[in-house]
Amino acid sequence: MISRYDVIVVGAGHAGCEAALAAARMGRRTLLLTLKLDSIALMPCNPSIGGPAKGHLVREIDALGGQMARTTDDTYIQIRMLNTGKGPAVQALRAQSDKRQYALSMRRTLEAQPNLDLVEAEVVGLLAESPLPPRRERARVREPRITGVETSDGSHYLAPAVILTTGTFLNGKLIRGEHSEPGGRRDEPPSLPLTDSLRSLGLALGRLKTGTPPRVDSRTVDYELAAMQPGDTDRPLYFSFANADRSAMTDQLPCHLVTTTAETHRIIRDNLHRAPMFNGTITGVGPRYCPSIEDKVVRFADKSSHQLFLEPEGRDSLEVYVQGANTSLPEDVQLAMLRSIPALGHCEMIRLGYAVEYDYVLTNQIDVSMESKPIRGLFLAGQINGTTGYEEAAAQGLVAGINAALRAWDEPAMGLSRGSSYIGVMLDDLCTKELTEPYRLFTSRAEYRLLLRQDNADLRLSALGHELGLISDEQFERVEAKRSGVAEALGSLRSSFLTPTAAVNQALIQAGQAPLSKQMSALDLLRRPDMTYDLIARLADQPELPPDVLEQVDVEAKYEGYIAKQHAEVERSQKLESRPIPPDFDYDAVSGLRTEARLRLTQFRPTTLGQAGRLYGVNPADVAILMVRLSKAEAASAAA
Ligand SMILES: Cc1cc2nc3c(=O)[nH]c(=O)nc-3n(C[C@H](O)[C@H](O)[C@H](O)COP(=O)(O)OP(=O)(O)OC[C@H]3O[C@@H](n4cnc5c(N)ncnc54)[C@H](O)[C@@H]3O)c2cc1C
Repeated sequence: MISRYDVIVVGAGHAGCEAALAAARMGRRTLLLTLKLDSIALMPCNPSIGGPAKGHLVREIDALGGQMARTTDDTYIQIRMLNTGKGPAVQALRAQSDKRQYALSMRRTLEAQPNLDLVEAEVVGLLAESPLPPRRERARVREPRITGVETSDGSHYLAPAVILTTGTFLNGKLIRGEHSEPGGRRDEPPSLPLTDSLRSLGLALGRLKTGTPPRVDSRTVDYELAAMQPGDTDRPLYFSFANADRSAMTDQLPCHLVTTTAETHRIIRDNLHRAPMFNGTITGVGPRYCPSIEDKVVRFADKSSHQLFLEPEGRDSLEVYVQGANTSLPEDVQLAMLRSIPALGHCEMIRLGYAVEYDYVLTNQIDVSMESKPIRGLFLAGQINGTTGYEEAAAQGLVAGINAALRAWDEPAMGLSRGSSYIGVMLDDLCTKELTEPYRLFTSRAEYRLLLRQDNADLRLSALGHELGLISDEQFERVEAKRSGVAEALGSLRSSFLTPTAAVNQALIQAGQAPLSKQMSALDLLRRPDMTYDLIARLADQPELPPDVLEQVDVEAKYEGYIAKQHAEVERSQKLESRPIPPDFDYDAVSGLRTEARLRLTQFRPTTLGQAGRLYGVNPADVAILMVRLSKAEAASAAA
C-alpha cells in the first residue's frame, strides 16, 4: 500500500504530538505513525511538567501555538510557582499532572485535529531519493532527500518531510538487577530495524541511559510520617496564556516529602555488586544531574540522607511516584530500600524501577531547524537527539513540526535564537555541543536570562506563532493588548511625579519604605525593592492594572538597567549570529585555522559565525580568520 502526505511524524510521545499538531495546524496533510496508540503522550517517568527552565519552555511552546501548556492546564492535579523568593528570571511554574488524563486529553486533541491521520504501525525503514554521495562530499551536500517511510507490514508512506521522534526506543534495552531485555520502555518493544536504517543512511549514533523509580501503592504509605507539600491554591496559576482568566484551582492534591535513612544507605551499599550501574551491565551514560539513588549514595557518601518526594500519579490512581529514588537495583533491594524509610515502612510496590539504554543520533548532524544535515527533509526531535525531559522533547517537536511543514512546501525554515527563547538556547546547544550525558535545559544555560522570563514568553514569541498560523487572531490581539497596556502604564508612571508631602511620606513609612526628600517620578519610586504598584497607584493616582500587565510593569521598572544591558548584548551578538556560513564551506581551504578548530568546524558545520564561536575548541582568533575569509568570498561573489 502507498499513501502520500505532506509531513510524516514517527512517534507519539511529547515530541511527536507537538510535531504532528503543528504541521496539521499549518494546513499540511500530516500522518502520525506510532507503535501503540494507547500510549500517546505517555509520561514514562515523573508525572510532572515544568520547573526551572522546563516551565519556561512550556510557556514558550504555548506562545508559539503548541499544545503542552493547554493540556497541562486541563489535567493537572497540583500547581506551584517555584523560586518565588528569587528574581523573576528563575521563577517557574511546575504542575503535577494526572498522568492518565494528560495522555487521554492529548489523544483527543490529536483525534479532533483536521489534516491529521493516526496509524498504529512500526516504522522499519526510511525511504530516500538518491544514493549516498561519496564520503568526502557527504557533509557538504544535503543529499539524499527523504521520500517517506516503510512500515513492518511493507506499506510505504510517502512525504517530502519526515520527523523521527522515537524517544528511548532505538535499540532500547531495559535493565533491572540481573535482568535485562530488549524494550523501548516498560511493556513496549524496542525499535530495532530503524536503527539500522539510520546507520545505512550514514547517520552516526551514540548510546545513553536513563532510569525511573518504583511506584508504591498509596494505601500503604503512612502520610502522617511525611511532610505535606500542598499546591498554590490562593491565586490562579496556569501555563497557557489563553487561560489567564481562570480562577485558582482549590481542590489540588498534595505531594509529600520523606528522607532516606542510614539503613537505606546501608542496604544500597551492601548490594552495589548487584547494581547494573556498578557491575558493568549498563554502559550508556546517564544524566549526572538526575542520578539514581545508588549513584547518589556512592557519589555523596558523606550525606546521611537524601530527600524523596511522594507524588500521586492522578486523581483516580493509587500509584505514587517516588521522585529521587530512580534505580535499577533488583526487586528485593528496591523493596527493602523503600521500607527502610519510616513513611514507607509497610509500602507495597506497584511497579518496579528500571533503567533503559538506547541509541541516539549525534546532534552535530542536525541544524537549528531540527533538519538532519546529511538527509534533506529528515527531521529529528526529542530524546532521539540525546535530550531528556518531556518539555525539551515537546519544544523540539514543535520546532520540527513547523519546519517540516515549511520544508514540505519548500518555504524557508524558521529559526529561534539564543536571545529570543530557551528553545533557541536548547537548539543552539544541541548543534554546537558534544553531548557527554543526556541533555537537559537549565536556566544557567541561558546567557540572557532576564529577557527570557516565563512571564513574557507571549510578548517574545506570539507574533511568530501568529505569522505561522498557529496563534489565533483573538489570542494575538490579547498579547498585543498586554504589550500596549505595559507600555502605557510605564509611560504614565514615568510622567507622574510624587512630591514629599506629609501624606505621601506617612504612607511610605507605614509601608516600611523610606520617605521622599525630593520630588520623584512614580516609575523611579517603583524601582525600589519591595515597593508595590498598588501603593504607587494610590499615591500617584494611577489606574488599576490587569495582573499580567502589572507583573510586566513591576519587572520592567525594577530591572530596567539589567534588561537594557542584556538587550544591548543580544544586539552586539547579532553581528556574528547574522553572518551565515554556507553549508558547503571548505574549512580545509582556510589557512591559519588551528587544526583543532578545523576539525570541530568540519564535524559540526555551524550555520553562522556565532555558532562557530561557541564550538568547543574554536577560539576568537579562529572566528576572526573565518570572518575575513567569508568577507573575501562574499566580496568575490558580489564582484562576479
Ligand atoms: C524509563 C524512563 C525514565 C525516564 N526518566 C526521566 C527523568 O528522570 N527525567 C526526565 O526529564 N526524563 C526522563 N525520561 C525521558 C522522558 O520520558 C523523555 O525524554 C520524553 O518523554 C521523550 O519524549 P519523546 O517524544 O522524544 O519520546 P517518547 O516519549 O519516548 O516517545 C517515543 C514514541 O516513538 C514511538 N516509536 C518508537 N519507535 C517507533 C517506530 N519504529 N515506529 C513507530 N513509532 C515508534 C513510540 O511508540 C512512542 O510513541 C525517562 C524516560 C524513560 C523511558
